[in-house]
Amino acid sequence: MEDLNLALLAKLGWQFCTNNDCLWVQMLKVKYCKLQHFFEVQSSSTDSWLWKRILKSKELLSKGMCMIVGDGTNIDIWKDPWVPFIPGFRPFPGGDHGLGSNLVSDLIIKPAWVWNSAKLHSFFYPLQVDGILKIQISPNQSLDRWAWIHNSNGVFSVKSAYLKDQEARFSYDGPLPKNVWKVLWNSHLHERYKVLIWKLCWDILPVRGVICRRFHIVDTSCPFCGANVESAKHLFMECKFSKLLWMGSRWSLRMDAFSHLSLMDWLYIIPINGSGLHLAKDDALHFLHFAAVLMDMVWFSRNKLVFDKVDTDPKELLLTIERLSLEHLKAKNGVSRPPDLHPLST
Ligand SMILES: [Zn+2]
Repeated sequence: MEDLNLALLAKLGWQFCTNNDCLWVQMLKVKYCKLQHFFEVQSSSTDSWLWKRILKSKELLSKGMCMIVGDGTNIDIWKDPWVPFIPGFRPFPGGDHGLGSNLVSDLIIKPAWVWNSAKLHSFFYPLQVDGILKIQISPNQSLDRWAWIHNSNGVFSVKSAYLKDQEARFSYDGPLPKNVWKVLWNSHLHERYKVLIWKLCWDILPVRGVICRRFHIVDTSCPFCGANVESAKHLFMECKFSKLLWMGSRWSLRMDAFSHLSLMDWLYIIPINGSGLHLAKDDALHFLHFAAVLMDMVWFSRNKLVFDKVDTDPKELLLTIERLSLEHLKAKNGVSRPPDLHPLST
């Protein structure tokens, strides 16, 4: 359980490092990383709950996060991991400590776009120089960017982080059967939706009913309807807001019919396995995408209401969900990459 949580937290850490457009990332960077690099920051007792947990993921992230050199102007030679061919991906000073040079671009001779071999040998030990020389550079390369080296497409995934963390002792004993996880992970859902379903299965989505188990909070009610304790089951299966969306879908689901199921049972029988609705294969795949997008949108709308005091019209939301689920379904043969921004935040 803790290991799974760690892989999920690493997803947040990845987003923190790679997604500067995101508001929560900008806020955290201003607050905690103004003076220090993410990989250098130490946890403090006054840190926020979220930040403490993101920092916990640093160790796991450092096992696979590495910068891909473009023009080298955004990579700190000494603080960023940028040499995938050496342990830890960070070279350490071996010669004159590279005084006065802090950016990888300082190590590149332009316009020839070749490594400055003399500088490399004066800064680093020979084995590290060998590793750096394996990195290909060219004037046509794009900007420096982060990559997760355990995925061929360079994009972080919770699955690969978890496997990396577990490596030799990977065996699954979670709330859903292993074959169901396999279906989920092998599906073409965006990573964000897989992570959301995973959180729901482990009951770690921070709804008020989960938060109040650890912290004293006065209001534990559902932000949409004001009734009940806000549990994940209530939010996604029982709340009138979600019910309208399920009912308005092309499958016209009456969620009252599933009230006897736990959220986990429902996730297994309906969206993931598809057996509960007796759908044809293609339709079951469409429904899986629809259900994932719906839950993501409900969670996003809920947060907009809680944090920004902005209401969402369920009818308009339903149109967005239908459009997005179809788009994701059509793109299922393409590269699966979570959108940088939430579709409703633009
Ligand atoms: Zn409600």
